[in-house]
Amino acid sequence: MSATPKNYGLGITTPAFVPGGTAEGAANEKKYLSRLRCPNGKPVKFSRRGSENPMVQAMMGGGGESKEEIMAEISEALKKYGPSGMPAKYRSVDVYDVKCTCGEHETTVYMNMYEAGPDEPIDLPGWTLVD
Ligand SMILES: [Zn+2]
Repeated sequence: MSATPKNYGLGITTPAFVPGGTAEGAANEKKYLSRLRCPNGKPVKFSRRGSENPMVQAMMGGGGESKEEIMAEISEALKKYGPSGMPAKYRSVDVYDVKCTCGEHETTVYMNMYEAGPDEPIDLPGWTLVD
């Protein structure tokens, strides 16, 4: 039985957490990906596609909230938490294209470097995280 949260690491609103902030986050993302194994137990190659922001995504459609509602929510959160304390849902996530070395598996992994979370593999059958 796995404790991996649903869709962990597979979507902009369900990123894998690799805390470290701007100082160590990028290095921790690479560490996480280098520990990832495909269902055949092979390591992966990866390249950073870019970063995406869940709030920008929400404004572009989906969710059902209007742009004004989302802007209001963000400014409320900014007042409450301050720029450096914003919860994960307001943070940009980094997006990586991931391809295993056995050649049979590829996926896209989303990671958030601003908040701690479970040290679990992405939520796809057979994928694991080694120590
Ligand atoms: Zn594979």
